[in-house]
Amino acid sequence: MTYVVGLTGGIASGKTTIANLFNFHFGIDVIDADIIARQVVEPDTEGLNAITKRFGQSILYQDGTLNRAKLRDVIFSSEQEKDWINRLLHPIIREKMRAEVDQTSSPYAMLVIPLMVENNLQSLADRVLVVDVDPQVQISRTTKRDGVPVEQVLSTLKAQASQSERLAIADDVINNNAKNEELLPQITELHQKYLEMCREDR
Ligand code: ATP
Repeated sequence: MTYVVGLTGGIASGKTTIANLFNFHFGIDVIDADIIARQVVEPDTEGLNAITKRFGQSILYQDGTLNRAKLRDVIFSSEQEKDWINRLLHPIIREKMRAEVDQTSSPYAMLVIPLMVENNLQSLADRVLVVDVDPQVQISRTTKRDGVPVEQVLSTLKAQASQSERLAIADDVINNNAKNEELLPQITELHQKYLEMCREDR
């Protein structure tokens, strides 16, 4: 069984940047839950077929791909439909993540799960690594990256788990308030620790 480090953090906390560094410097295979969540509703998937059956063809664009804005409207306007979609997609996403972890070949795998706390997915990881970053930093990096107003970032922050809720499930914490260059020493230390842990786990 592959040893799994689950990486989580709020919006623009630096999950992608950090996972890329683990991959680039140490060859760690990275699996991204957001990518999988998109793949399971691609055309001709069990997920999209079930969604189309429930909400009709109008949930699709003309080319047969999912109209995400429409699906978001459905989710926002009905708690019941939101639950239905979660009950449909979450098991498929979990299964696909497990299957992808099984395919990895690095000493341990890194599973990036942005909504780990919100969706209670920590059991998918042997070890939880939380990116710790101040809300002020998240706001400035998001506005810069996405060109969105501060108010929009604030409402995303409010909708996500709080940093203290995240830290409560953390086995390890990586701080990303400072410059990019300060990440590598932390990552190197964590990598050494994970190598030992996955060796012991065997
Ligand atoms: P999201 O979940 O919102 O997609 P994320 O947690 O994957 O984001 P990244 O995309 O890695 O976060 O980083 C968010 C933005 O902040 C990016 O533009 C990235 O280049 C920048 N960034 C990340 N870490 C640092 C840093 N230490 N210094 C400066 N900029 C950074």
